[in-house]
Amino acid sequence: MSSNTWESNEELQYFREYLRIPSVHPNPNYEPCLEFLRKQAKLLDLPIVVHYPIDEKAPVAILTWQGLEPELPSVLLNSHMDVVAVYPENWTHPPFAADIDEKGRIFGRGSQDMKCVGMQYLAAIRALKRNGGRLKRTIHISFVADEETGGQLGMAPFVDSDDFRKLNIGFSLDEGMASPTAVMPVYYAERTGRCVTFKISGQAGHGSLLLSNTAGEKMNYILGKMMDFRRSQVERLKQNPQLTVGDVTTINLNAINGGVQSNVVPPMMSLFFDCRVALDVNLEQFEADLLRWAEEAGGGVEVEFMRWLRRPHTAPTVTNETNPFWVAFKKSIDELGLAIKLQVFNGGTDSRYIRRMGIPALGFSPMNHTPVLLHDHDEWLHVDTYLKGIEIYQKIITNVANI
Ligand SMILES: [Zn+2]
Repeated sequence: MSSNTWESNEELQYFREYLRIPSVHPNPNYEPCLEFLRKQAKLLDLPIVVHYPIDEKAPVAILTWQGLEPELPSVLLNSHMDVVAVYPENWTHPPFAADIDEKGRIFGRGSQDMKCVGMQYLAAIRALKRNGGRLKRTIHISFVADEETGGQLGMAPFVDSDDFRKLNIGFSLDEGMASPTAVMPVYYAERTGRCVTFKISGQAGHGSLLLSNTAGEKMNYILGKMMDFRRSQVERLKQNPQLTVGDVTTINLNAINGGVQSNVVPPMMSLFFDCRVALDVNLEQFEADLLRWAEEAGGGVEVEFMRWLRRPHTAPTVTNETNPFWVAFKKSIDELGLAIKLQVFNGGTDSRYIRRMGIPALGFSPMNHTPVLLHDHDEWLHVDTYLKGIEIYQKIITNVANI
């Protein structure tokens, strides 16, 4: 394809128009996205409804293509409209210009995460509709807010609403990740977050003494235990090349607070850890270990788990012949001659909220032979990869909606 064809390609035009909307954190303004999606709905001759699960700053827009048997559980194609912050000085192309370079790479924040996928869904449906196709099941294409800050204003409250229940969703697709090789990851589960703060109190006093029971000593003990555990997980990954980081527990010390003055032993210090607990770890046991280490440190340590994250494990999506949606998805992949690998997502996506409702959900972005650039400078996607992705979705959507 030549650069002239890139400029005139209808689907590339829509994708680039969407990329040019700076729905960027912090404080993304979603109004221009909604305006754009309303236009798309009109072009596609599909109804669009906008819900506001928490407040008017965080919309959930849903386009619907009614199936021939609308009473059947529907298929949800989800994407988020928000993108993470940019440091424009580190980009070789402006992050919201959607430039295409001479190699055919489309530069833009959201080109991988995940405005591409949202537009590919629509492009696939446009193609299916133009071919006169009708599908058995109803398709809902949702565009949500606030995924990049945890979904607390977006998918998290939306799944609890009557509006969501009325969609009667039986299966959902959401974002995956690019892959530098031919093999594309398909995510069927996510780990469970356990963010924890240790508030460590100890004997305060003059900095010239050797007081016992100080906050610093206790902190050292806890830090040692946490880092030992972290090392054991690094080791597990090293020992077994089949494992990915989503298969083990990750622990990162992300904040330390405390102290007032150089010659004062402080009465209080705190450690904050971001922990993502692997699916095969018993969460109660994990928490009990942390509490025990706090005790062993010498007491006077308050262990505080971040409340909104303190959930039980969510069951992974079933990926065998008992899940007909998985069978239809896998069949599409096989028919297209593509290679996939089932994985546990290392981060968090909106799929966790969908799975929590007992709905099977897969995370998949058709971007092979592409470097992983989500949240990075110079995020790009090749035009050929983008257009190929539309064909892939045509097949997947047709198969999962016709079971
Ligand atoms: Zn994303």
